[in-house]
Amino acid sequence: MNSRATRPIADRLHEGPVDYRNYIDGQFVDGGDYIEVTNPADGRLLGRVPESGADTVDAAVIAARRAQSAWEKRPPIERAGYLRQISAKVREHRVELADIIVREQGKVRPLAEVEIDFTASYIDYMAEWARRLEGEVITSDRQNETIFLLRKPMGVVAGILPWNFPFFLIARKLAPALITGNTIVIKPSEETPINAFVFAELLAETDLPAGVVNIIGGRGVAAGQAMVEHRSVDLVTFTGSVATGSRIMQTAGRNLTRVNLELGGKAPAIVLANADLDLAAKAIYDSRVINTGQVCNCAERVYVERAVHDAFIDKLKGLFEATRYGDPSHETDLHMGPLVNKIGLDKVARAVDLAREQGGTVITGGRIADRSSGFHYEPTLIAGVGADHDIMRSETFGPVLPVQVVDGLDEAITLANDSEYGLTSSIFTNDLNAALQVSRELKFGETYINREHFEAMQGFHAGRRKSGIGGADGKHGLYEFTETHVVYIQGR
Ligand code: NAD
Repeated sequence: MNSRATRPIADRLHEGPVDYRNYIDGQFVDGGDYIEVTNPADGRLLGRVPESGADTVDAAVIAARRAQSAWEKRPPIERAGYLRQISAKVREHRVELADIIVREQGKVRPLAEVEIDFTASYIDYMAEWARRLEGEVITSDRQNETIFLLRKPMGVVAGILPWNFPFFLIARKLAPALITGNTIVIKPSEETPINAFVFAELLAETDLPAGVVNIIGGRGVAAGQAMVEHRSVDLVTFTGSVATGSRIMQTAGRNLTRVNLELGGKAPAIVLANADLDLAAKAIYDSRVINTGQVCNCAERVYVERAVHDAFIDKLKGLFEATRYGDPSHETDLHMGPLVNKIGLDKVARAVDLAREQGGTVITGGRIADRSSGFHYEPTLIAGVGADHDIMRSETFGPVLPVQVVDGLDEAITLANDSEYGLTSSIFTNDLNAALQVSRELKFGETYINREHFEAMQGFHAGRRKSGIGGADGKHGLYEFTETHVVYIQGR
């Protein structure tokens, strides 16, 4: 194993596996034990990252705390300058960074490049808020009194990340935290940490003051748990599964630490008889195979009106059967790569087996793919499912789409809302009244009308029910990283 290097990122990718080090207080420090990171397409070792424990977490949080008050005192426009240095570094290394997430997550290259570019734009977008952060002046009941509502940083933020958009999620935590005057400790997923450690190397090339951003490796049950338990952490911002989110909330409850939770989804897509069926089929299909179905906000269940059910299934079948999938580190022009790991593959296989047992009809796909290596599952379309079938209720997180027939919009809305998840939803229709009705009646954080599921950075991505607490992006996401402070000034 080579030690982590001063060699250019691009060279390192094509040599042997590398050991990465934690980035704490502006220094790269060894972490003791290591976690091995492999390519899900071929099982090859890509590198090792520190398996941090509570001591390392403590050092990172202390560094972030030490850096925070000076960081908060800088005018926001100065903080924006540092963010722009970071986004420039990301753009400069876009090809290598994309290459890393292709290898460690199994993402197809065009999507990996979109993720890197979107990340740079997201950092710039958050930097633009520097001159727009505002408080309020409130009228008083008292003579000669002025009441100010100030927005202040929370302090030290702990950002805990999933593996499905590993690089973008760094920015979704870091950029709003920094522009509002917080400092941060980030722990990437143990499945896809290398991109975060390379990002740390890019940070080290900027003028960012030491301790403002700290990046540590580790597993959820040790490092993640220690971050949530730490008394000097003011906000835990977490993206991941419902089960982990619930555990984090319980742990954070001990110190009454604030949490912001972006959790799972089971997004419904409603297709009415008056929809443009080609548009609907393509948008829903794209939404299901993008990132091999491992996206929290993409269509996971479909409700289609009876009159167009058969025609719609035919269109979807054609699309599913034309899916090209394989090893994105060697093949180009793919729709999908592998699933992220064996656990993910087994989960998808079990979900499809259960769908069959419960009466669903597999139209196409339905098996672990016959490939010599990699965690590949066949793109799968299932019809004949019912509202109580597991495949319509639990998050599958794979390239599997179940379709249920409905008799009208009211039934579709009732079924869509009958879910413990409430992140995103969609409808395909040419009827304005139907679009208005779902805007009123769907109980989800987001609804997409006649388009694929994908949020805008200036929107607000927030789940209802078990899909989360709080949200990200836009003005509302930004203010999740602030506390209010009301100041009463009594004049004479
Ligand atoms: P996960 O919950 O298994 O892990 C996420 C992170 O939590 C990892 O870094 C892990 O190390 C850490 N962790 C695990 N146990 C912990 C604990 N006890 N304390 C603290 N940290 C702990 O999720 P995942 O498998 O990486 O991600 C997939 C899930 O994320 C899916 O459910 C998906 O829907 C969801 N997701 C949601 C959004 C959103 O915006 N709502 C976005 C992307 C992914």
